[in-house]
Amino acid sequence: MDVTFSQIISPQGAFLVGLICAIFLYIRMLRRMSAKSRIKLATPTEEISSARMSETELDRYSRHIMLREIGGQGQSKLRNAKVLVIGAGGLGSPVLSYLSAAGVGTIGVIDDDLVSLSNLQRQVLFDEDHLDYPKVFAVKDKIKKLNPFIEILPFNRRLTEAEAEVLFIEFDLIIDGCDNFLTRQIANLACVKLKKPLISGAISQWEGQVSLFNETKKSACYSCIFPVQPADGLAPNCAEGGVMGALPGIIGSVMASEAIKNITGVGENLNDKLLIFDALNSEFNKINVSKNPNCEICKVHHET
Ligand SMILES: [Zn+2]
Repeated sequence: MDVTFSQIISPQGAFLVGLICAIFLYIRMLRRMSAKSRIKLATPTEEISSARMSETELDRYSRHIMLREIGGQGQSKLRNAKVLVIGAGGLGSPVLSYLSAAGVGTIGVIDDDLVSLSNLQRQVLFDEDHLDYPKVFAVKDKIKKLNPFIEILPFNRRLTEAEAEVLFIEFDLIIDGCDNFLTRQIANLACVKLKKPLISGAISQWEGQVSLFNETKKSACYSCIFPVQPADGLAPNCAEGGVMGALPGIIGSVMASEAIKNITGVGENLNDKLLIFDALNSEFNKINVSKNPNCEICKVHHET
């Protein structure tokens, strides 16, 4: 004899069973939704390391974070990086702007110059309100408005050999965009001694160059390639020989790009290579360079 469900349970009991089933199904649905959202948040490993960034930071750096090569992990590396920029002039302007916008957490800048009218043709961080104002403080004012999440450390003085090592030890990467050979030599010597990577850029009239030195013990240093000061007139600085206004923007942007790659550890860098840009003929050339066995700096400080 067939017995139906309604014959063995009262209507109140049936209602109770139905209610229990409905609650069970509801809880199961909630669990599934929660699991789905957990999976969605935890899939990329870099999301975990970027978890400590605020919503605003994640939004600000979202175009970096969505790049496969950078992601949240690379953005965290940028956030933790400490970079020193030598020179707040034509090259320093794009380097400082792009690294600040990119979220490099701590940026030191050393320069003893004041903003002058002739700087405004190419040094795009400054405007007429900054005239006669120390460049490093003008940088700080400007960058604070660009990205309040990073720290700018201004050093209003010229880099000296006595101070270089003490200053450089506080930073992971040194970027040299100064306009004179002596400062480049000082920066190189301190970087070799401390084994710090050095991104060096230079511009003159229509031509500019960029390289990354000291990445490894076997890499060339700046003095391997440029052991002596160029003869007078061969490489005039901007004040002596003039410079096309957009050139520092191009070379400085390459320097900033190399810095972002160096910090995040992606791509091919300019170690043992010299990138030369000829703006007059719109030509980029990359040449191989190597450690000079007779380099006085490497011989003393890189002996095995
Ligand atoms: Zn060398």
